[in-house]
Amino acid sequence: MSINIKQSVKCPNCGQMSDITVWSSITVKDSPDLKTDLLSGKVNMFVCPSCETRALMPHPMLYHDEDMKLMISFSPTNDAVLAEQLFDNVQTSSKQSGELDKLEGYNLRFITDYNELLEKLLIFDNGLNDKAIEVIKLMILSQDADKSEQRVCRFGKREGDTLEFMIYDFIENQVYTSAVPHNTYTTVYDSLIQSGMKPYSFDWERVDGSYATRLLNGFNNNF
Ligand SMILES: [Zn+2]
Repeated sequence: MSINIKQSVKCPNCGQMSDITVWSSITVKDSPDLKTDLLSGKVNMFVCPSCETRALMPHPMLYHDEDMKLMISFSPTNDAVLAEQLFDNVQTSSKQSGELDKLEGYNLRFITDYNELLEKLLIFDNGLNDKAIEVIKLMILSQDADKSEQRVCRFGKREGDTLEFMIYDFIENQVYTSAVPHNTYTTVYDSLIQSGMKPYSFDWERVDGSYATRLLNGFNNNF
């Protein structure tokens, strides 16, 4: 079930009060329009009607796509220590409530960054697996290894047999694109499956750059 609350928010820039609908739960089956809004970055994003200042509401949100067997727990924070605590909490409460048993065959993702949330939705919407995508992103960034620390790579779109990635360079203040053939994705995906990776979750997972590094170093998500 999709759940929201209405809140009055004071603009951090100009002080104007306005109302915003904050979503704590989105179920795609009930609310396909909400998914569209989410993909366009409108959900839980405060936009001041007076000065157009944008700010993400600091509320957690649970995203559930039954057909795709995808559940995303989104807890916005920039604090790495807090993120780890919140992740632990989600894992623990999910086990204790017995919820995990009902989510067999699901992909369960824990995310703290809004852009990463949107990227995950795009990846799964395009019929791709984010674990293989994270490995490809590492491969792209390693092509210019000296600059990988100052860059963020994100999946952009799929066009026919090509996957397009965006590379944001924060020092050069540039955006590059990188095109990867879908065949490369298939090769990476198949070799990850052969090495023991499961295309679904046994527990909540944080699938990001450090996950992909562990994956490449021989980690797999078997028990
Ligand atoms: Zn304002």
